[in-house]
Order: sequence, then C-alpha cells, then structure tokens
Amino acid sequence: MVEKTVIKAKAKRHAVVDREHCAACGACEAVCPRGAIVVWKGSFSVVNDDLCVGCGRCSAECPASAISIEVRA
Ligand code: SF4
Ligand code: SF4
Repeated sequence: MVEKTVIKAKAKRHAVVDREHCAACGACEAVCPRGAIVVWKGSFSVVNDDLCVGCGRCSAECPASAISIEVRA
C-alpha cells in the first residue's frame, strides 16, 4: 500500500493589516469566513496566515482601508 502525503498549499494571496490605520472596529473579524482575522486586545487586527485564503472580504468591509490583499512572499 502506497502512503500519500497531503501537503496543503497556502493560498497565493493573503490579507495584510496596516496597524497604524486600524481602528479596531471588528468589522473584518465579523465577515471573515475562515476566522483568520481577529482584533487583538482591542488594539488592532491580526491575521492568522495559516487560515487566510485571501478572499478580500475583510478588506472590502474595513472602514479605515487598513487591509490590503497581497501576494504572499
Ligand atoms: S482575506 Fe478573507 S480569509 Fe483572509 S482574513 Fe480577510 S476575510 Fe479572512
Ligand atoms: S475592519 Fe479595518 S479598522 Fe476595523 S478592525 Fe478590521 S482592520 Fe481594523
């Protein structure tokens, strides 16, 4: 029997937060279908890169335009 190793590749794009502009409103956290972005200690949002699929919903909802969707390095 041949064993298969499944490697889950990360999405090509991911969300990047500009902490200087984040108002910690929580809108991004509310719309993320992956639970990949959370407001950290009421200060600014942070992205879990392992979960983010770069869908852009958070960026579209952000009233401060603090989230950009970028190609992973
Ligand atoms: S890009 Fe999509 S998956 Fe990534 S944090 Fe934003 S809403 Fe969540
Ligand atoms: S939606 Fe924008 S301003 Fe609101 S917590 Fe998320 S990154 Fe910050």
